[in-house]
Amino acid sequence: MTGSETKKTDRIVIAGAGGFIAGNLVKYFRDRGFTNIRAVDKKPLDDWYLCSPEVESLRLDCSQEDACKRVCEGAVEVYNLAADMGGMGFIERFRVECLRSILINTHMIEAAYQAGARRYFFSSSACAYNTQLQQDPTVTALKESDAYPAMAERGYGWEKLLSEMFCEEYWAERQLKTFIARFHNVYGPHGTWDGGREKAPAAICRKVVEALDKGSKTIEIWGDGHQTRSFMYIADCVKGIDMIMHCDDLIATPINLGSSELVSINQLVDKVEAIAGVKLQRRHDLTAPRGVAGRNSDNTFIQKMLGWEPNTTLDSGLRETYRWIEEQYYNRKRGQRIVV
Ligand code: NAD
Repeated sequence: MTGSETKKTDRIVIAGAGGFIAGNLVKYFRDRGFTNIRAVDKKPLDDWYLCSPEVESLRLDCSQEDACKRVCEGAVEVYNLAADMGGMGFIERFRVECLRSILINTHMIEAAYQAGARRYFFSSSACAYNTQLQQDPTVTALKESDAYPAMAERGYGWEKLLSEMFCEEYWAERQLKTFIARFHNVYGPHGTWDGGREKAPAAICRKVVEALDKGSKTIEIWGDGHQTRSFMYIADCVKGIDMIMHCDDLIATPINLGSSELVSINQLVDKVEAIAGVKLQRRHDLTAPRGVAGRNSDNTFIQKMLGWEPNTTLDSGLRETYRWIEEQYYNRKRGQRIVV
């Protein structure tokens, strides 16, 4: 549902395209016949999860002003999904790296503006919300107004909040149409599943595959497992990005993009075990990072604005994800080159 004014031949720039969500977004637009996509990431092309020869793929560091200028040349739409990020283990440990992503959005939005881009998308996060509202596992779902008064996740969440403000002011002062989605935990194939940056669904899938392979019969879970979250399947995420980017009623207006199906981490493990047909003994690591106690997405606003919300069930999304991670795991074991 790309906006009527955007032609299939218009240049669409997607930053962070070597990563999970932007890689899937490139594929989404390519599959819909867009022929002038420019994908960029600082990672070597060999390390991109998805890379297609029909797409112009550049290796550039978008925290640099010159790189952003180069990337945005001729752009009609710019999607900024580049960020130094990972799951709780990463964002609690590397706050400086997370904060430094401010450079990416700062240069990218200016370059998009200078290039005369018509629309600019920024991938914000539920971590921008006030953490004091997330201290109970039986959460009240977060609505868009809950970001202020601000008490965002240290590092990562504050970077998102400030970059959101850039987007709001580029519209207010310079009339660049900006769009801001606050993603709530995204999961699915072609994303990080090992190495320390992976998020809970991928980590749990991998641990279950590993337990089965090694016959260990146990699984380690971070925290007591009572912490609650909602998880959005990647197909819903990319569809939502397209819908938000092309809805003029949402200009410079942060909006939740997440599932409202709340589960505890223990329930998430139950689901993955059911898919794998196994029951493992759980060891809870109470010293591991666990993030806020509970978080869910209030989807009243997205329902009102788009008449839609992410609706892939966790069971069906996890089945696809488990299958993909299992395949990656055994490919790696056989010595094949894979991207984690
Ligand atoms: P990801 O780590 O898979 O992808 C991010 C990509 O950005 C990586 O490939 C990385 O190499 C690239 N990058 C980092 N710094 C760069 C730079 N200076 N120049 C160019 N590329 C750079 O992460 P993802 O899950 O795909 O997340 C995409 C966006 O969505 C990020 O902004 C993230 O904060 C946001 N987000 C993701 C989730 C989630 O659950 N995955 C939740 C909330 C918000």
